[in-house]
Amino acid sequence: MKKVAVIGAGIAGTTTAYALLKKGYKVTIIDSRRYPAMATSYANGGQLSASNAETWNTPKNVMNGIKWMFKPDAPLLFNPSPEIQKYKWMMGFLWATLKGEHKKSTLETIDMAKKARETYFKIAEDEGIEFELLKKGILRFYDSEKEFKLDQAKKSWLDQEGMEWNTLTTEEVKELEPAFKNNANYEKIVGGIYTKSDASGDIHKFCTNLERVLVEKYSANLRLNTTVEYISRQKGELVLTMRKENEIMNDSFDNVVICAGVGYTKLRK
Ligand SMILES: Cc1cc2nc3c(=O)[nH]c(=O)nc-3n(C[C@H](O)[C@H](O)[C@H](O)COP(=O)(O)OP(=O)(O)OC[C@H]3O[C@@H](n4cnc5c(N)ncnc54)[C@H](O)[C@@H]3O)c2cc1C
Repeated sequence: MKKVAVIGAGIAGTTTAYALLKKGYKVTIIDSRRYPAMATSYANGGQLSASNAETWNTPKNVMNGIKWMFKPDAPLLFNPSPEIQKYKWMMGFLWATLKGEHKKSTLETIDMAKKARETYFKIAEDEGIEFELLKKGILRFYDSEKEFKLDQAKKSWLDQEGMEWNTLTTEEVKELEPAFKNNANYEKIVGGIYTKSDASGDIHKFCTNLERVLVEKYSANLRLNTTVEYISRQKGELVLTMRKENEIMNDSFDNVVICAGVGYTKLRK
């Protein structure tokens, strides 16, 4: 049986380990944190959304990103600290924006997101994973006529990909989400977009519950509080050099899958 190491126990690592275990590999999951899913997969927007998988490489977003750098309560903040990897990523982002790849990459992302969403649902169902899944769609609401019109216009191409991009009137928004009835800002709402097949859930719960299944049902080996320092090739095998507190250890594997999120760049060297 082939031995595979999965570095990282976030959503990418746990689901990758699951797929490998189902295919009969002997899997070891390694994470530097004391518990699974304590980095980006600890808390996020909770959206299981394929319809909202629009990529960000548009000139409008670049301009917003620059403006937000000077706004203390910006919804998204770019930290200009010098880091080669960050600036390389930025150049790639700007290049894709200049080439006008937004529509093409959005359609590709939607396709991938639809498959990912189905995989998520299937794992949860097959393994009885509870993660506060709510299959009630996702509603965007607008208080700017201009922004609403811009997003409405996307319907013509998003619908071709089988995305439901249903535009709602203010009244329909209120009907769909009764919480708006008592909201003082309700009068400002000019309309909404509802994507029915989307869902929401708690990613951290999903990861921790799936991790338990991986260990108890599929006999995965879970090494927490263990950081992979580097990967080398020795006699046809991949050797991971790991650190747990002050102890350094080596272990060899037939294959390694890196699902280390932002930690990936350190392991690429
Ligand atoms: C504010 C915010 C909101 C978001 N909202 C949504 C949303 O609504 N819907 C959605 O689909 N996505 C959302 N995302 C994106 C989503 O959360 C991430 O894409 C996803 O969690 C990334 O998972 P991951 O497994 O790749 O990385 P991570 O969850 O970061 O996991 C990487 C793991 O690798 C470990 N690691 C790193 N280096 C090493 C090493 N050398 N040795 C051992 N272990 C290591 C880390 O400890 C960590 O546990 C959001 C992201 C943010 C920041």
